[in-house]
Amino acid sequence: MTTELLGQAPADTDGSDDGRILGLRCRACGRAESLGPSYVCPACFGPLEVAYDLEVVRRRLTRATIESRPAGIWRYLELLPVATRPARGLPVGSSPLVPAPSLGRAIGIERLLVKDDSRNPTLSFKDRAVAVAVTKAVDFGLEALACASTGNLAGATAAAAAVAGLPAYVFVPADLEPAKIDHALAYGATVVPVQGTYDDVNRLCLEVADELGWGFVNINLRPFYAEGSKTLAFEIAESLGWRLPDVIVAPIASGAMFTKIARGFDELATIGLVERTPVRFVGGQAAGCSPVATAFAQGSAEIVPVRTPDTIVRSLAIGNPADGRHAVELARASRGSVEAISDDETAEAIRRSARLEGIYPETAGGVTLAAAEAARRRGVIGPDDEVVALITGNGLKTPDAFRHGLEPRPAEPGMPGLAPAIAPSFRAFEAWLER
Ligand SMILES: *Cc1c(COP(=O)(O)O)cnc(C)c1O
Ligand SMILES: [Zn+2]
Repeated sequence: MTTELLGQAPADTDGSDDGRILGLRCRACGRAESLGPSYVCPACFGPLEVAYDLEVVRRRLTRATIESRPAGIWRYLELLPVATRPARGLPVGSSPLVPAPSLGRAIGIERLLVKDDSRNPTLSFKDRAVAVAVTKAVDFGLEALACASTGNLAGATAAAAAVAGLPAYVFVPADLEPAKIDHALAYGATVVPVQGTYDDVNRLCLEVADELGWGFVNINLRPFYAEGSKTLAFEIAESLGWRLPDVIVAPIASGAMFTKIARGFDELATIGLVERTPVRFVGGQAAGCSPVATAFAQGSAEIVPVRTPDTIVRSLAIGNPADGRHAVELARASRGSVEAISDDETAEAIRRSARLEGIYPETAGGVTLAAAEAARRRGVIGPDDEVVALITGNGLKTPDAFRHGLEPRPAEPGMPGLAPAIAPSFRAFEAWLER
């Protein structure tokens, strides 16, 4: 396996559709639908998901087959809703799972591992979801790729569309971090800033998705988009030598990624690639937009939408999360938790990760690391647990966030006036004064 080959292997046919992909199925009532750009059950309005014949997959897919393939998400082709490995596409996935001993020690978790998914082509895990969605958009012959984005999806959609030769339309809240808007513009996308919250943007996109015949990656292509997140689970299990960790800590926006990691583990166990061992799921949300953490704290399955999110953690600021209920149920059933993290804690966690491990996460990663610490404090995570924390985006996307509560102090132009500005190195300064 060489990095040169990442994502660029010739189309292989060994995963061709051999009956393993059954179609779409309603998660609520079980009704079957054919594969297409649709996402709601016509009978009960429940969410549609991709259904597989895992018995077919079990017969075809072995650890050795996976290990013989090039790096990237298509190693796990048979567990994705795609017939053959796409001939062209960005090199997504196979991000490193790195031990974080200094950070772990700081928060009382000896065996802390970080899945550094900030290393994807557009610097966030969203590339995984979009890689699957764009493949289906091409399969279905859709004219354009689009999305409603809290930020990272914008860049991921724009880049994938550029490679696929499709126009991209990206809808974002108008007050999004400028770096994320610029990122999508760079790939040639049409960016549409909408006056309102992410939920307003999403509502607008729901209305136009059916009219326009475009592939909205997280709306009418959502069943496929969501499947891309399972590759995080597959990679974590493979990196651990084909076993599952004790705890997963991950951020929750819509809840799709959080719940699909559990699904990924479940599928690996069902097809016999890992032993089915219990995994606790710990979710993190920003306190300023924490409908899932609130439901968890209240012991309720009911998600009360947050109308006006108030947090620096824009990438997680979904007030009415589509998979919120599912996420609460997973945290509860797995004996995990969902933690609400203040912006100060998020900023501190970003700084600590960068300083102790050389890993610079965006706000969602700060929430995740702070959630690991919070869950450790409340005993959901024990001192000897093997914990995998997901860093889903890169700090360069949210350049102001780590400074939250840490503004550099201006200095007078002269040595004595410098003291307040360099307070942390004050000893050196005193030494200079004594000379
Ligand atoms: C979108 C996003 C998430 C969460 O995604 P959901 O599947 O909607 O819960 C987490 N981290 C980052 C950096 C994201 O951009
Ligand atoms: Zn239904």
